[in-house]
Amino acid sequence: MTLNSNSIVLQLLYNLIQIIQPILVPLCFIAAWGFILILGWSLWNALVDTTNRAKTMHQIPCSNCQFFTNDYRLKCPVNPLSANTEQAIDCPDYRSVVNY
Ligand code: SF4
Repeated sequence: MTLNSNSIVLQLLYNLIQIIQPILVPLCFIAAWGFILILGWSLWNALVDTTNRAKTMHQIPCSNCQFFTNDYRLKCPVNPLSANTEQAIDCPDYRSVVNY
């Protein structure tokens, strides 16, 4: 671009700003509050998702089961594929740890 074309672009930009000047403040107001509402909505959804996920994870009974080995190589000899996963919820082989 040459100096002449730069001044034309600046002039067009100046004219555009002059045209939208009356609606610039309401537009920025709406954009700012829209951004804040979307941010709040996202945070609320993240909080709800995290709470639901935590509730689901706390339903996994393996850590209180007699068959749970707490060894990453074989977590459970009865159901090795479903141990410590959501599939272990309502596991029919669950036996509570007996503390004497
Ligand atoms: S038997 Fe079921 S509840 Fe117990 S550790 Fe294995 S998968 Fe988990």
